[in-house]
Amino acid sequence: MDLSRREFARMAGAAVVLPSAAFAQGGKKVRYCVVGLGRISLQHFMPGTKMGSLGEITALVSGHRDKALQYAKEYGVAESSIYSYEDFDKIADNPNIDAVYIALPNSMHAEYTIRAANAGKHVLCEKPMSNTVKEAEDMIGACKAAGKKLMIAYRCQLVPTNLHARELVRSGALGTIQAIESSNGFNIAKGEWRCNRKLAGGGPLMDVGVYSLNACRWLLGEEPVHVNAYTSVIDHDGRFDEVEENVAWTMKFPSGAVAACTSTYGAGMEGFIRLHGSKGSLTVTNFGYSGIHLQARINGVNKGDPPRIIDDLEEGKDPSQFVRESDYFSKCILDGTEVGPSGEEGLKDMRVMMKIYESAAKNG
Ligand code: NAD
Repeated sequence: MDLSRREFARMAGAAVVLPSAAFAQGGKKVRYCVVGLGRISLQHFMPGTKMGSLGEITALVSGHRDKALQYAKEYGVAESSIYSYEDFDKIADNPNIDAVYIALPNSMHAEYTIRAANAGKHVLCEKPMSNTVKEAEDMIGACKAAGKKLMIAYRCQLVPTNLHARELVRSGALGTIQAIESSNGFNIAKGEWRCNRKLAGGGPLMDVGVYSLNACRWLLGEEPVHVNAYTSVIDHDGRFDEVEENVAWTMKFPSGAVAACTSTYGAGMEGFIRLHGSKGSLTVTNFGYSGIHLQARINGVNKGDPPRIIDDLEEGKDPSQFVRESDYFSKCILDGTEVGPSGEEGLKDMRVMMKIYESAAKNG
């Protein structure tokens, strides 16, 4: 039986977040400490948490106290709950913090996740999980040892439209998946920490290519067994002295499905993923903060039957994905349930990304 788009969105949304859970928990909310007051925190996660029903911002960590004071006022955070990076470990003594949201340059994810876990707090850490596989393993180890949850902020995995796409792939509606294509990139400005290898760990692959990689793995439900890759720099204008400008990689999965992906910091590139199956194909356009669009065409059962056309456009505007992300992690904490986009999920992407770089280095 086909579910209508609205029905599916409602059911998928309900599976991810139950707004009534706040009542089920007696109105209890998860209290977040936000580490790093940059774009993703200020423009997306903090407004999303404020609009949600299961979380609230109760502490801030910043290198700029004036800025932190300004946002503390806006979010009703006590001045005593503003920390610097140096005194971050003092959050251990703050009973008004349950979880920490880490939105720092990639190289700092491991250190702050481990310090947060050691302080007895759950961790929601931005993607990419870390700079290295070892760091990712240490992050998982620290959270396990502390008995705290670790989620990597793969917001796309919680969007009903993407869950619909995954259901179409996993249910076999598209037949056997044969080939996948995916791209994601943008033209980066000069002076971004994202072009500093020490802070970013790599270039567009780590930052935005990871969306393509994660979507391939998550939709298919398989881990690649072979990886081949190339990187290049075309624009010698100072932006790419330390990281790649372009990356292209192919993957082969255990089922035999093959994938071809690209990412760049040198051109505007609309994100998309397309899967070709023996009974039909689907495209999801956009890994952005809103407007994720699924279009699928599934062959009729009998010769001459019209194809089934699916058109599912994400509902809601930014910051709705962050409302969902924040409430989802809060619900996992409040209910004591497993996190979907866990540390292990982030680690799997890290392992493949390191293989991509190893292959590219060999290929010259
Ligand atoms: P940003 O540059 O806007 O903010 C980074 C924050 O880190 C700032 O508050 C900055 O002051 C602080 N910081 C501390 N030490 C720093 C240092 N040595 N150098 C630079 N900044 C330092 O970055 P952003 O876009 O908010 O990205 C932060 C993290 O969030 C990254 O890991 C990024 O990959 C991730 N991100 C995720 C998404 C998503 O959709 N999930 C989107 C954007 C960014």
